[in-house]
Amino acid sequence: MSIFRAVVIEKNDTGQTVTLKDFSEADLMEGDVTLRVTHSTVNYKDGLALTGKSPVVRRFPMIPGIDCAGVVEISSNPDFRAGDRVILNGWGTGETHLGAYAEKSRVKGDWLVPLPDGLTPAEAMAIGTAGYTAMLSVLALEKHGLKPTDGPVVVTGAAGGVGSVAIALLAKAGWHVIASTGRAKEADYLKSLGATEIIDRNELSGAGRPLGKERWIAGVDCVGSHTLANVLSMTRYGGAVTACGLAQGMDLSASVAPFILRGVSLLGIDSVMCPKPRRVEAWARLATDLDRGKLAGITSTIRLEDTIAAGADILAGKVRGRLVVEID
Ligand code: NDP
Repeated sequence: MSIFRAVVIEKNDTGQTVTLKDFSEADLMEGDVTLRVTHSTVNYKDGLALTGKSPVVRRFPMIPGIDCAGVVEISSNPDFRAGDRVILNGWGTGETHLGAYAEKSRVKGDWLVPLPDGLTPAEAMAIGTAGYTAMLSVLALEKHGLKPTDGPVVVTGAAGGVGSVAIALLAKAGWHVIASTGRAKEADYLKSLGATEIIDRNELSGAGRPLGKERWIAGVDCVGSHTLANVLSMTRYGGAVTACGLAQGMDLSASVAPFILRGVSLLGIDSVMCPKPRRVEAWARLATDLDRGKLAGITSTIRLEDTIAAGADILAGKVRGRLVVEID
């Protein structure tokens, strides 16, 4: 059994520690596929795990990292063979199952999606759970029957990972995208992704009215709390808003008025336990629809040893777009 480098979260009486250290393959958890991890990424949830700010980690010691791209080394799963390139998002990795910030990982083959044609492992991790969640949000709006000619779409948490990829996807599909951000200095960045209008997130972050002026037909909300309530209250008749995030808060003190007076729908988005067929659909669409130049423009690359500091940065709202962790 080999020894490899891993970021390890441990817990003792005084709290949580996180260090880069040696880890033994013998201590990996059960699974029918062993991977050589080549790339990962840092999502908001990884920041919560790395800093211990929220009880994301439910087993200690834990290797954090909810997203992984790698090469199959050993497999007893009939769907995968040594040498296959795969990606993994969620399913409790980095929370209940040892995750991706390590040179090796052992997982259930059923959790794996083959790396889609046309995407490199680094690009897949630049997309990561954030980008895949953005795609799930866009798919949900489409399945609701909404299209760019119906009106504008608002994206909250615009300069974050989910928001940035959502803007790029929606703009490419022809939507008029209104980006809500707290970072006015990122206006040019958001416009380069395809946002047409930028609004200050303060317009949406306070306690609002049950119904406001109808401003958009669709929304991709990454923020929750008052922001989501206000986005709903300003959604046009028959529109829909996806909810994936809680960057402002987990609460939702909204009124039912948008639902019962304007037929607005609230569409929940979960990436973690999302069934495999929808994952495969989302990844296939990402491979064809996401502009690689824009993806490169929102991506910065760090090393495994940088992930601990990056976790704090993402919670502090200092990370623009997406971080790729180069492991191999
Ligand atoms: P990021 O940290 O990259 O982006 C979050 C963005 O939210 C920030 O960039 C900021 O955007 C905005 N924001 C931060 N704090 C506040 C605040 N107090 N009030 C209003 N806006 C705020 O995270 P991700 O894009 O990776 O994730 C976004 C959210 O989605 C997170 O809550 C995450 O947990 C959740 N998520 C959920 C998933 C699911 O399966 N449901 C999967 C992936 C993510 P700006 O600077 O532009 O204002």
